[in-house]
Amino acid sequence: MNKYHHLYEQLIQHTDKDNVLVNEPIREHTYTKLGGAADFYITPSTYEEVQAIIRFANQEDVPFTMLGNGSNLIVKDGGIRGIVMNLQQLSSIWREGDKVISQSGARIIDASRFALNEELAGLEFACGIPGSVGGALYMNAGAYGGEIKDALESTIVATKDGELLTLTADQLDLSYRTSNIPDNGYIVLEATFALKPGNKEEIKEMMDDLTYKRESKQPLEYPSCGSVFKRPPGFFAGKLIQDCNLQGKQIGGAEVSTKHAGFIVNKSNATASEYISLIQFVQATVKERFDVQLEREVRIIGDDVEG
Ligand SMILES: Cc1cc2nc3c(=O)[nH]c(=O)nc-3n(C[C@H](O)[C@H](O)[C@H](O)COP(=O)(O)OP(=O)(O)OC[C@H]3O[C@@H](n4cnc5c(N)ncnc54)[C@H](O)[C@@H]3O)c2cc1C
Repeated sequence: MNKYHHLYEQLIQHTDKDNVLVNEPIREHTYTKLGGAADFYITPSTYEEVQAIIRFANQEDVPFTMLGNGSNLIVKDGGIRGIVMNLQQLSSIWREGDKVISQSGARIIDASRFALNEELAGLEFACGIPGSVGGALYMNAGAYGGEIKDALESTIVATKDGELLTLTADQLDLSYRTSNIPDNGYIVLEATFALKPGNKEEIKEMMDDLTYKRESKQPLEYPSCGSVFKRPPGFFAGKLIQDCNLQGKQIGGAEVSTKHAGFIVNKSNATASEYISLIQFVQATVKERFDVQLEREVRIIGDDVEG
């Protein structure tokens, strides 16, 4: 029984009971397949429900965590206390003029494919990024020379108090793998991408080329969180790790990928604690050998196992 269990009956006043899972194993919802359970895992189906749940969490002083597609997160083995909210049910994508509007629970890959089918150019770079639209804005996700900042026009967010705000892309301070979304505690609900009419064959060719590059270089056959580290100024994280001969280094079931040194894979039932120890080992080794501090791109959240 979790500490917040007594709030269940009140919680289901704010969304359908089927949208509230109790003690839900979070590893089922993350790309690394790591992590303990969430006290409550909630998937609201309207913006009003999102607002009501934020207000409920504030009023009852329950910890609140947003989870997108779980592709840039390591959740610790003790799980996450309080409410974890996921917007998978808010995943509509539509077109208005040359704009693509997407609810934040949609996958950015699906927004990119939608743009292709509508013959709109500007989201090709996102065709292989496995995050949600909300997670992509949060991280200013990018690949192969493109990033969210280039395509985003505006967004609708819910504030910490549950109010809805429309913000321009500039108001999010998007830069390399960051935004001001965490500092402001915004919950992204919707994104408007300003695109340009394009040639379907050319858009598809670019997406096929990026997919080929991704599949040939990344260890997509194992669970992982993508590139663990940001690119340090003047260096490439993968090259530094490779030059330390760390590829194949294992702690428990976690391994520095032999295919792409910037990835750590969950090779055989790793725990979050093993995965995190390997990240720290890589950081310490690179620091000692090259005096470069690798900064994590991936976020670590949740609790250690008690006792
Ligand atoms: C195989 C692989 C390849 C990858 N390749 C790339 C790549 O090429 N480029 C790149 O940039 N990234 C890449 N990533 C990392 C990841 O896909 C991106 O960072 C993505 O944007 C994360 O989105 P998510 O929905 O999975 O977020 P999550 O991992 O679920 O969450 C990340 C953070 O975003 C917050 N968040 C999620 N949704 C919302 C929301 N609606 N409102 C507010 N906050 C929210 C969470 O609270 C969390 O702090 C890769 C990952 C993998 C596993």
